[in-house]
Formats: sequence, C-alpha cells, structure tokens
Amino acid sequence: MAIFDLKNRVAFVTGGNGGIGLGMAKGLAGAGASIVIAGRNKTKAQAALSELQSLGGPAEFVELDVLDETSCRHAIQKAAEKFGRLDILVNNAGTTVRKQPEDLTAQEWHLVMNTNLTGAFLCSQAAYPHMLRAGGGKIINIGSMMSVFASSYAAPYAASKAGIVQLAKSMAVAWAKDNIQVNAVLPGWIDTELTQGARKQVQGLHEKVLARTPAQRWGAPGDFAGIAVFLASSASDFVTGVAIAVDGGYSAQV
Ligand code: NDP
Repeated sequence: MAIFDLKNRVAFVTGGNGGIGLGMAKGLAGAGASIVIAGRNKTKAQAALSELQSLGGPAEFVELDVLDETSCRHAIQKAAEKFGRLDILVNNAGTTVRKQPEDLTAQEWHLVMNTNLTGAFLCSQAAYPHMLRAGGGKIINIGSMMSVFASSYAAPYAASKAGIVQLAKSMAVAWAKDNIQVNAVLPGWIDTELTQGARKQVQGLHEKVLARTPAQRWGAPGDFAGIAVFLASSASDFVTGVAIAVDGGYSAQV
C-alpha cells in the first residue's frame, strides 16, 4: 500500500544491531527503506546486517556511542552522507542498572539517564537539519511500561523512560511546523538480551510477566515491525506527540 511505502526513505536506528531495534529495522527494510543500524557491538551488527540485506534493501552499520555527544553528531552525519538524506530516526538504544534507589551510585544514575534520555535528545537534535532538508521526518522514541508504571529496582530507568515520552511530545510540538512527527512506543515485556539478564536476576519474573500479560506471552522483536512502519510512513502524518503501547494488553489491565 502506498501510504506504508518507505522506498527512497533512509532510517537510522540506534541500537539497531539487535533486539527491538533490529525488529523495527527489519519492518522498515521490508517496507523499502534504506537502513543504518548504529551501535557499539560490531559482531552483533554484522549478523544484523546480513539479516537486513537478505530482505533486499541497502543496509549499513555506523559506530555510535550515545553517551558521547560527538559520536551522536558524527554517526548521524555519516548516515546522511552514505545515503544522501535522512528521514527516519528510531531512538532505541537503552540500558538499565537494577538496584534499589538507596544503593545506586551517581555514576550508575548518569549512565542510565544519559544512555536512554540524553542520547535520544542528542541524536534527534543532530537529525533535525537533515529532516528539514528532506522536507519532513519521523522520530520514534522507545519508552517502556516504566514510562507509566514504576518498580523498586528501576529508578533511573523509569525516570528516563518517562522523560523520553515528554521529550517526544516536546519535539512533536516544536517541529510539527517542519512536518516532523515525533512519537513514542512503549513496549511491554519483550524477549531480548536486556530481559534475558533481568530474568536471571529477578526470580519468577518470567512467570509473573506471563500471568500479567493478557496476550499470555512475552513479546518478540518482530512485534515491533508494524508499529515502526506505521510511525515512519505517511500513514501517520497527522499522528504526533503520542505514546503507543505495544504490550499484549499489559497496560490495559489493572
Ligand atoms: P537490547 O539489549 O537487545 O538492545 C539495547 C540496544 O541498545 C543494544 O543494541 C545496544 O547496542 C544499544 N546500546 C546500549 N547502550 C548504547 C550506547 N551507549 N550507545 C549505542 N548503543 C547502545 O535490548 P532491547 O532490544 O530489549 O532494548 C531496546 C530498547 O527497548 C531499549 O531502549 C529498552 O529500554 C527498550 N525496552 C525494552 C523492553 C523489553 O522488554 N525488552 C521493554 C521496554 C522497553 P550495543 O550492543 O552495540 O551496545
């Protein structure tokens, strides 16, 4: 369908070398976009590139550390140079430190806030002039159930994920005049490297998630292909500043 067509569009996905980011990148590639996956781990990136290239479209890897302002600006610039434009940014890179608030060091706090929130701001700011030049753009911030709910072991994670929704809304309001739509996606519990770690640390988590999720399963990275295409395509041109849960009903249930 033409409204979902991403041919001639270039997408930059932070942390697109695995997990949810790769699930979104595969959706975007399937709709015709050229993909730049950006992250630190080159081995993961090589495997991800093979998967993306098997879908038929061009895909490249650019090194990125969202903790480093210069790296954010260089990586976006490199991506725009590789493909001649930049239309879509997915702010997906994320991390967490699982500790009670009283046990967190300031360094741990900054690591999570800077990765999840400041990195998204820096990449968006770097992408803005390229989107202006392209006549518009789409930014998708990855939030979490912890954008809305809280947990005793995730203070900086929850704060950063609530912040990334407000960042999306603020950029949506500021840049609507430039035909740039900015939205957030709030994943439920998804089976990725991040949550494999959580399942090892938190006893009974696997079963708790199954019991709490109306869809009665963990999500998979592939569950994010459709929402990525919707929010990156002209199908969502009048959708901006919203947060959409992709959670199997998790947040709908008390
Ligand atoms: P992964 O661990 O698979 O993905 C996290 C990605 O972030 C990795 O690809 C990693 O790349 C990248 N990343 C981390 N730190 C940096 C950094 N400093 N610079 C550049 N890239 C970085 O987990 P998920 O796929 O689960 O997580 C993706 C996003 O989804 C995160 O924002 C997470 O908070 C969010 N989310 C996940 C949920 C889940 O249940 N899985 C639920 C709700 C939200 P590299 O390996 O190269 O460092």
